[in-house]
Amino acid sequence: MKCRLGPDGIHLFDRATGLNVLIDEVRVPEGQWSVAPRQVSIAVTNACDLTCAYCYAPKHRAHLDPKRLCEWIVELDDAGTLGIGFGGGEPTVYRHITDVCIYAAEHTGLAITMTTHGHKWNADLVSRLKDALNFVRISVDGTGATYERLRGRSFAELRVRLDLIAEGFPFGLNCVVNAETVGQLTAVADLAAEHGAAELLLLPERPTAIGRGAPRDVLDQLETWVLSYSGSVPLTISEDAAISMPTAVALPNETGLRSYAHLDASGIVHASSYSEAGQKVGEDGVLAAFGRLAMTEVA
Ligand code: SF4
Repeated sequence: MKCRLGPDGIHLFDRATGLNVLIDEVRVPEGQWSVAPRQVSIAVTNACDLTCAYCYAPKHRAHLDPKRLCEWIVELDDAGTLGIGFGGGEPTVYRHITDVCIYAAEHTGLAITMTTHGHKWNADLVSRLKDALNFVRISVDGTGATYERLRGRSFAELRVRLDLIAEGFPFGLNCVVNAETVGQLTAVADLAAEHGAAELLLLPERPTAIGRGAPRDVLDQLETWVLSYSGSVPLTISEDAAISMPTAVALPNETGLRSYAHLDASGIVHASSYSEAGQKVGEDGVLAAFGRLAMTEVA
């Protein structure tokens, strides 16, 4: 079990069960707060074999050196990070992904998750990652013909992959919410329940250089749907979209870079995967880069 000290108290976390215990009766002096972000997403590569129109992953070729990545992961673990999430691009096209996951599982107490489109998973990959991954997030935007139009892959094939992944790992579905998918949220939630997903993460499409993001009427429809939802699969939502939603915030004082940060495939740390501002990780390590980023955010 990992122990993290922060502004909300003492946070105990067990990656094997997903158990979180917060002892908030204890006020931890600021000088003892963990200096690393609680959760770090890591884009191991920018490469992907799909071409989703709303993809915000950088399009230049880049991937992380596995040796340096393993050093940074250990550094994060030692400094109090509780979990890392591998993504991209598509992490399963990164040829070092199984080695890095296994290394992280064996040398740290971090919870290790992966966000994937799911289509490259087979029995061999499930077997190799079985003892190394704690949770898998599968991107499923809409169902049936909508999914096939947006992702350019067979929906029937996706369902086969969902069953395959479900045999090896607890998993959740991630759904980008936009004008094309908002009317299909019930179908996506039913899909999640049918395949045994542990959660459905709602991701309203963000405005980026290539897209305007989910418009106001889509966000209104999303809110109406959430308020009337009675399905069995728990819902979660991206933090920036949660403002008008009935969400529970377990750690209200651990915000910004203390709660979350992103490491991109070029070895640059950001406050989020959408943020342009960043700091390159140098020879002084990943925590020093987070420290420089925090200074620029304050300035
Ligand atoms: S699967 Fe993900 S990384 Fe690949 S193109 Fe689609 S959104 Fe981008």
